[in-house]
Amino acid sequence: MEALFAVQDEDVVKGQLEHRRANLPERTAVIAVEAERAATMTQVQALELERLDYARRQHRYEGEVTAVEVRIIELNEKLYSGGITSPKEAASLQDEINHLLKRQDDLEGQVLEIMETLEPVDARLKELAEVAEQQDMAILEARESLKVAEAGIVDKLAESAKRRTEAVASVGSDLLARYERNRPTFGSSAVVGFSGSDCSGCPSSMPAVEADRVRCLPAGTLADCNECGRLVAR
Ligand SMILES: [Zn+2]
Repeated sequence: MEALFAVQDEDVVKGQLEHRRANLPERTAVIAVEAERAATMTQVQALELERLDYARRQHRYEGEVTAVEVRIIELNEKLYSGGITSPKEAASLQDEINHLLKRQDDLEGQVLEIMETLEPVDARLKELAEVAEQQDMAILEARESLKVAEAGIVDKLAESAKRRTEAVASVGSDLLARYERNRPTFGSSAVVGFSGSDCSGCPSSMPAVEADRVRCLPAGTLADCNECGRLVAR
C-alpha cells in the first residue's frame, strides 16, 4: 500500500515539474528578448527602405548632373571652336550654357540635400546595428539559461520516473490499474488514507455506515469510497 502512495507521490512530483517546465521564467525571458530583437529588425527594415528611396533619387540626380556637364562641354567647344560667326547665335549658345549651369547647380543642391537627410538615417542605422548585436547576445544568454533550467528539470523528472518505476514494482497490477483509472478524476488524491473513522478524501465526514464498512475490511485493502469515489487505503 505504501508503494502505491509512493507512486502517487511521484505522479504529483511529475505534474509539478512539468508545470514548472512549461512556465519557466527563463522561457518568458527568451520570448521577451526575441520580441525586442524583432522590433529592432522592423525599425531597420523601415529605415533601409527609406534609405533606398533616397539613394535612388540621389543616383538619378547625379546621372542628370553628368549629362548636363557633358552637354555644357559640347556647347563650350562649339562656342569657342571658331565655327560660330553670328553674334546672335553665340549669344543664344551662351544663354543655353548659362541655363545648363543653373540646372547643374540646382541638381547638385538636391544631391547635397539628400546626403544631409541621409546622415541621421545612417547614424540611426548604425545605432540600431549595435542594439541588434547586443540583443543577439542577450538572446544567446537567455537561451542558455533556459537550457540549463530545462536540463535541471529533465534530471529531476528522470529521478522521479526512476523512483516511480521502483515503487510500481511493489504494487500489484490490479491495484495499479484501479489507481490509474481514478487518477484522471482525482489527480493527486486518487488514493487516500483512512483515519479509522473517515476517508481523508471526502470533503465532509464519511457517513457512519460507510466508515464502518471500510473499518471492517482487512488492513491493506484498497476500498472504493462510496461517498467521494476515491480509493481508500484501509
Ligand atoms: Zn471518500
